[in-house]
Amino acid sequence: MGASRVGGQVPAHEASTPAPIIVAPTGKHQNKEQPPPHHFWDKKNDWLFAGVGAARTFDYFSTLNLRRRGDQEVLVTNDVVDNHAAFAVVEAAGTGVSMGTSYLFHRYGHHKLERWTSIVHFGLATTGAVRNYCLKTAHPKTTP
Ligand SMILES: [Zn+2]
Repeated sequence: MGASRVGGQVPAHEASTPAPIIVAPTGKHQNKEQPPPHHFWDKKNDWLFAGVGAARTFDYFSTLNLRRRGDQEVLVTNDVVDNHAAFAVVEAAGTGVSMGTSYLFHRYGHHKLERWTSIVHFGLATTGAVRNYCLKTAHPKTTP
């Protein structure tokens, strides 16, 4: 009689006493070392590194192109540029250093810097290469 409603079907809006919320230690908050938000070799980095490599290659050929026109390469000594194999190594090393820097940033959790390393490097190498191509063979000024 008095306790007839216990266990009965109570409409939801009538259930004033909240059901006991069982806080189960499900381990939702894992406060261990935070895992990296992405793998170092994810698609984005793949493309960025490919871009840096391509930009470096572009720079390599544009510099050779520049050298053939008799201009001076200001960033590396002409000896290195004239030794094509050595120059290729310099360009490859640049890509490697860039990737190494990205990896360090990644390891220490600076994922924005990690990307920017490649982006800036890509930008610099590409700009340099484009500049090389744009430096047309000296236009002799025809003075009247
Ligand atoms: Zn990262």
